Amino acid sequence: MNDDMIPILPEERLTFECSSASPCFNECCRDLNQFLTPYDIIRLKNNLKLKSSEFLRKFTSMHKGPGTGLPVITFKPDPDSGHACPFVTKQGCSVYADRPASCRMYPLARAITRSRDTGEITEYFAIIEEPHCKGFEAQKDQTVKQWIDTQDVKIYNEMNDKLMEIISLKNMTRPGNLVGAEEDNFYLACYDIDSFRDKIFNNDLLSGLSIPDFVLDKIKEDDIALLDLGFEWVRYFLFGKDMKFDQ
Ligand code: SF4
Ligand code: SF4
Repeated sequence: MNDDMIPILPEERLTFECSSASPCFNECCRDLNQFLTPYDIIRLKNNLKLKSSEFLRKFTSMHKGPGTGLPVITFKPDPDSGHACPFVTKQGCSVYADRPASCRMYPLARAITRSRDTGEITEYFAIIEEPHCKGFEAQKDQTVKQWIDTQDVKIYNEMNDKLMEIISLKNMTRPGNLVGAEEDNFYLACYDIDSFRDKIFNNDLLSGLSIPDFVLDKIKEDDIALLDLGFEWVRYFLFGKDMKFDQ
């Protein structure tokens, strides 16, 4: 978390309210430098009824994480709109039901640690206090946990934590750039999920890896199961971990 964030506990009170009546309505959707996680992309491309490759081409840019060497996806910069989100409208967010995790959590940031012994995750929260956000001047008062519970962010956090585990392992065991096809394969498995599915079924991409039939059946339709398989494959080709398949 950054220095300008104020740590806050889940049981602490948060005076904050956001609505279309807020004087700053939509201000948080401008001047963006927002990265998108694999699960964010699944929700957005399905909301827009696009294939992942079309969504990525139309709305995103790829960078290389300076510390990790891993692909990082952000909204495509749009200086003409003041770097506004491509989905903000006068009426608000046009993809509200499927908005990214960071939009759901704002004005909070979430970080985690994971126990090396048990794998148990501990969450940490902080308030991002930015001058444009007037939501703190509202009267509504709730605990941090109560506020987060209204944001329907659980599945986002679960999937994003799986990515964070891979990034942490990469930082610990394989610092620096990816080699050979690793970067393309990471992008394919984590972000361009519909092309990943297509290559599995039409190009024998994972044919040497004995993927069980129940997994192959499930990933035909289920993007979350496909992303889980993508994460397993990344762990296999980056770290040599055996692939695990939950029934
Ligand atoms: S996705 Fe929606 S809530 Fe998030 S920045 Fe864009 S318009 Fe705003
Ligand atoms: S700036 Fe803050 S209060 Fe205003 S719309 Fe965004 S989150 Fe809500």
